[in-house]
Amino acid sequence: MKKTLLTIGLSLAFIQFINASNLTETQQKIAVSDTLKKDGIDPICKMKVKAGNTKTVVFEKKTYGFCSESCKKTFAADPKKYIKK
Ligand SMILES: [Zn+2]
Repeated sequence: MKKTLLTIGLSLAFIQFINASNLTETQQKIAVSDTLKKDGIDPICKMKVKAGNTKTVVFEKKTYGFCSESCKKTFAADPKKYIKK
C-alpha cells in the first residue's frame, strides 16, 4: 500500500515537473516590455493599440500591444492560442 502511494506521488511530481518546464520554455520566448513601434491591434480584445504603448509582450520576435494589464496577462499565459499563423 505504501509503495502504491509512493508511485502515485512520484507520478504527480513528474507531471508537475513537465508542466513547469513547459512554462519555462514559454516564458523564455517572452521578453520584458518593449515599446510598440507602430499602431496595432490587441490580440485579446481586438481594440486598437497606438504606437508608443508600453503594455507589450514580445513573443517570437514580434511585439504585441495591449489595452490593459489584464489583456497582457491573458496573452502572456498562452500566446500561441491568440496568434494566427
Ligand atoms: Zn485588450
